[in-house]
Amino acid sequence: MDPNAFKDFSKEMADFITNYLENIRDRRVLPNVEPGYMKPLLPNEAPQTPEKWQDIMGDLEKIIMPGVTHWHSPRFHAYFPTAQSYPAIVADMLSGAIACIGFTWIASPACTELEVIMLDWLGKMLDLPKEFLACSGGKGGGVIQGTASEATLVALLGAKVKKIQEIKEQHPSWTDNDILGKLVAYGSCQAHSSVERAGLLGGVKFHLLDVDGKFRVRGETLAEAIREDKEKGLIPFYAVATLGTTCSCAFDCLDEMGIIANREGVWLHVDAAYAGSAFICPEFRYLMKGIEKADSFNFNPHKWMLVNFDCSAMWLKDPTYIVNAFNVDPLYLKHDMQGSAPDYRHWQIPLGRRFRALKLWFVLRLYGVENLQAYIRNHIAQAHEFESMVQADSRFEIVAEVIMGLVCFRLKASNDVNEALLKKINGAGYIHLVPSKINDTYFLRLAICSRFSESKDIQNSWREIKLRADEVLAEQSTSK
Ligand code: PLP
Repeated sequence: MDPNAFKDFSKEMADFITNYLENIRDRRVLPNVEPGYMKPLLPNEAPQTPEKWQDIMGDLEKIIMPGVTHWHSPRFHAYFPTAQSYPAIVADMLSGAIACIGFTWIASPACTELEVIMLDWLGKMLDLPKEFLACSGGKGGGVIQGTASEATLVALLGAKVKKIQEIKEQHPSWTDNDILGKLVAYGSCQAHSSVERAGLLGGVKFHLLDVDGKFRVRGETLAEAIREDKEKGLIPFYAVATLGTTCSCAFDCLDEMGIIANREGVWLHVDAAYAGSAFICPEFRYLMKGIEKADSFNFNPHKWMLVNFDCSAMWLKDPTYIVNAFNVDPLYLKHDMQGSAPDYRHWQIPLGRRFRALKLWFVLRLYGVENLQAYIRNHIAQAHEFESMVQADSRFEIVAEVIMGLVCFRLKASNDVNEALLKKINGAGYIHLVPSKINDTYFLRLAICSRFSESKDIQNSWREIKLRADEVLAEQSTSK
């Protein structure tokens, strides 16, 4: 087949993409299909002979779009945002064309070198301590992981290697197995499920920590848990501080946790998956006070910094332990320049990696720090606008302090009534929210997600919520 066939397909798709995004407001945010909707629309087998690309274009609106949840609609308020912008989409196109696998420096030097520089640019934008940056000339540096979940696991595996080495120096007769069964990690009971899962995947015990009235882990809670575990003969080795929890966007007391972790020789990892993007604005950096005490820090530009998934930025003060944890060195992956630049295959779980630094480079150059800061501030202002509207309606209450672009709220009524409200909202499909629960209190979460979102969208979403609340409360009073 002609290797240059389908060139026109890519041009036509570029038009489809711009048209889709420009008109995203007109689409119903949640699809109205049943499980299995697609099977009758597609043949049972792949075609033996080529089809026309024009037929695929025709099928997009018939087969794909009816089953798409439109995450970039300004009426999508579920989960946390996932980022998207033209510069990042175009960078992914270029990455798809170069299609290199940058596992070592020589496998595509530009892929590694741009990543090192972009992680330095980004680290400086957040004002990370210089120990995390490659440009400081020390051991530290950054890497792009696929997800925050991988970053948490990679840090845990590095911490495990570090602690095993330390313990073997103190107790030369102890085997790896003697030590492994005693290792214990820590994280908030409000941490993302990927934190506890990292413990399961890493084969270690995990101690979930209670939170205070603001849903944050305090230093003394970590200290007490470590004391209890040491008394039981366990070996504390790893703690995760969450900056911006998934349920309510609470911020653990990093500074307090850092003092304890450093005192106890426990590796401190920071998971700032969503909220980390806000640290490009100096006024939010008070929330990362104590960052100099952390061993590793991670946030997702692919959540809130206009870089498409996947792009999870991770920095390590000393990557040696992770490099050692993952280092297997077959002959076919060796090269003459080993040691002069990072071979990122040692910093991550998979071997293969795409040229993801391109999308950071394009976004940072085409928006500039100023516009990215304005973008974050605008989302947070919209969250506060929504918060004020909720507060002005005496039937509702705010459940957690609004710090970023997430508002947690509920009707002043039972969990059942709030569940009925959410069911009505999502059933109508005009806006999309997901719930959460803390200490048996069920509430609704409204996240500002779309880069198209404006004040008028937030007002529309609030109007829809009030309308559904009227319906639910009317049904409640007639059923009494
Ligand atoms: N950590 C926090 C605090 C999150 O909110 C999330 C997802 O929303 C994650 C981790 C998982 O992110 P990822 O999908 O990049 O693994």
